[in-house]
Parts: sequence; C-alpha cells; structure tokens
Amino acid sequence: MSGPALPPGGFEVRGQELMAGGRSVTELAGQAGTPLFIYDGALIARRVSDLRAAMPAGLGLHYAIKANPLPSVVAHLAALVDGLDVASSGELERALATGMAPGRISFAGPGKTDAELRAAALAGITVNLESAGEMRRLAAISAALGIRARVAVRVNPLFELRQSGMRMGGGPRQFGVDEEMVPALLDELAGLSLEFLGFHIFAGSQVLNGEVLIDCLGKTVDLAIRLAADAPAPVRYVNLGGGFGIPYFPGDVALDIGRVGQALAPLLDRARAACPDASFAIELGRYLVGEAGLYVSRVVDRKVSRGKTFLVTDGGLHHHLALSGNFGQVIRKNYPVAIAGRMGVAATETADIVGCLCTPLDRLGDNVALPETAIGDLVVVFQSGAYGASASPSGFLGHAPAAELLV
Ligand SMILES: *Cc1c(COP(=O)(O)O)cnc(C)c1O
Repeated sequence: MSGPALPPGGFEVRGQELMAGGRSVTELAGQAGTPLFIYDGALIARRVSDLRAAMPAGLGLHYAIKANPLPSVVAHLAALVDGLDVASSGELERALATGMAPGRISFAGPGKTDAELRAAALAGITVNLESAGEMRRLAAISAALGIRARVAVRVNPLFELRQSGMRMGGGPRQFGVDEEMVPALLDELAGLSLEFLGFHIFAGSQVLNGEVLIDCLGKTVDLAIRLAADAPAPVRYVNLGGGFGIPYFPGDVALDIGRVGQALAPLLDRARAACPDASFAIELGRYLVGEAGLYVSRVVDRKVSRGKTFLVTDGGLHHHLALSGNFGQVIRKNYPVAIAGRMGVAATETADIVGCLCTPLDRLGDNVALPETAIGDLVVVFQSGAYGASASPSGFLGHAPAAELLV
C-alpha cells in the first residue's frame, strides 16, 4: 500500500484485507458490484461521540444533509445528532422521513421556491431567510395559511472565513442578508406573519486550521450578540455555522477539535449570557461523514503509454467529481488510495489511475505508488463519504450510477 501503515479514517485492516463494518471490502464489492461507495456506520457514530466529547456541553450538533443525502446515512445520523439542516424540498422530505422533530430541522439555501417555502411552513421547520424578498414571500404564504412560519435570519457577515475551501460569507454573496441590512430587515419582520427564532451565520467550509476556525467562531458570536439587540423578540436559536474540514491531500493535518472545543467554551458562555433564552448549534457535513466513506472501483484495463503505466477502472468522475479535482479545487491533488486486498504490501510501481470516461479530466490518482496491480483488483479511495455520489454528474456518458452501501 502507498502511504501510511494505518489506513485513513479509522478503517481496520485484517491481514492484507481492508475491512469496513467488520466485513472485507473485497467481499462487499463482490456482493454489491463495482463501482460502489461504502459508508461505515460505526465510524460515523464514533466521529459524533468524539466530537461531542470535545465540544462544550449543551452545544447542539446538526448534520448538513447535502454532504451525504443517502437515506440510510441520514437516518443513521438523525439518531445521533440534535438537528438536520436541509437545502431543498427533496432534502426536507428525507429529513422528515427520519422522524426527526420538525422543530429540529432547518432549511437554508438561496432560491427557495414558493412551493418549497409552503412545504417548510406547513411542516413547521425553521426557514433560514436568505433575503428580504424571500422573507416577504414566506410571510405572504404563512398569512394565507393562517400560521406563523418559524424563521431565522441567515446573515452574510462582513468578515470572511480565511483559508476556507469554499467561502460562503463576507463580501457580496448570494447567501444570507448582509449584516448591515439585518436591523432594518428585523424591523420589517416584526410586523409580518412570522415567528422569529434567531440567526444563522455560516461563513464557509473545509477549514483544517483550528486557530482560523476559533477566530471565525468568535466573530460569529460577537455578531450574533450585536444583532440580538435589534431582534423583535428574545433570540431563541443561533446556528454558529461550522466549516470543520477533513484532511484529503498529502500534507493536510487533521483539525484539532480538542483545541477548538476548549476555545469555544468561553465564547459560548459569553453568548449565553447575552442571549439567555437561546440554544446554540453548529452544523457540520463532511466532518461527520467524509472520513467514514470509501469509493471502490475495479481495474478493467492496464496499459503502458510511452513509459507511463495506466490503471483504468470502472469508476470515474461521474461518481466522484471531487476526487478528479473538478469540484472547486484549483490544483488537482491525490486523495489517499490503496488496493483493497493488498494493504500493507510494499509499493513496487507507480501508476496513473483513471476512470472509464472519454475525457482527460477523469483522473482518480496521479503517479500513485502501488503494489503490483492487476486487472480485477479493487482500487479504494479513502475520504470519500461526503460530496461523492450526490455531488457528481452521474448522467455524464450514460454509465450506471455507483452502488451505495451503509455497513
Ligand atoms: C454546505 C453547507 C454546510 C456543510 O458544509 P461542510 O463543509 O460539509 O461541513 C453547512 N451549512 C451550510 C449552510 C452549507 O451550505
């Protein structure tokens, strides 16, 4: 195997076999077929409990479904976390199907249609308002239904989340209401058929530097406290965002959540003193599921082109766009890769691993050090539990979708 002796993500090795959920990946791939995603439910549960142990007591933990919307994964997480965050009516249906109390589900995202707002209002979930226009549409829908929809104001802060993989706050954004416009919006909200709960402040994602996250959480708390002074009612809910990253590439160092939790405790105390009626939560996607997932494809062809060895698999960017380097990355880098039945075997060759699509963009690994690899072998890509199947152009070239398995 290339890279470290222990596989990433906490997966177990027995002999030379990679295991997931107590079963060999070779056996799972033989039964379910390839390509497939495997998600390890025990690793997800361990992740949640480690995180809870590190975070201040009473801080709510929400799962952002967008990271992995597989119904079995969402149901598994629903039993472990305090809330679910959705970003479409499709995700809302999946969230409600888990039995999660509607009061613990929130709906963020620009471009919510009237139908989505109506569904959210009727379900009794919390709508994170992205604009004044959206607020007015929801208020009209609520009034027509004779109810007061539950809302939080999503705030686009003046500050930015530095070193963020995807920045979603600061500067001009399609997300949220600019913080300087929030007091006027709250004035108007007070007269509408809406139940004001609080604020949602999400600055960005995929941060590995704890100091950067702590700095951002501190600014987020300060902003929530400032805005609470203009609120039409006592603030009952503040979603502090998240952005906790996971290591994907060589040189990435895992986030120190112990440190983040320690630094967050006094910030939270300050926030609770200013907003005594409020509950506080963070919302995480990839941090909860990303490391617990594998993408497995089978070598279909092996060829040498002008001195370079290519392993061609039955997988590709139509299942795992991020792996190919085309989901927001500037420079393509390799995810950790191994051969499922040859863990711990010394590398003897260097190969490019590619998918089966007719485009040079379809790369699974560049110059990967591997043990001798043959047709039929299983290429495993780690760190594949988030933004895989659902974040990839599965219709491109008409191949079958990947199987997905929670074990
Ligand atoms: C995408 C998103 C998340 C999840 O981001 P991760 O990087 O997967 O943790 C959380 N909140 C909002 C509002 C999002 O848009």
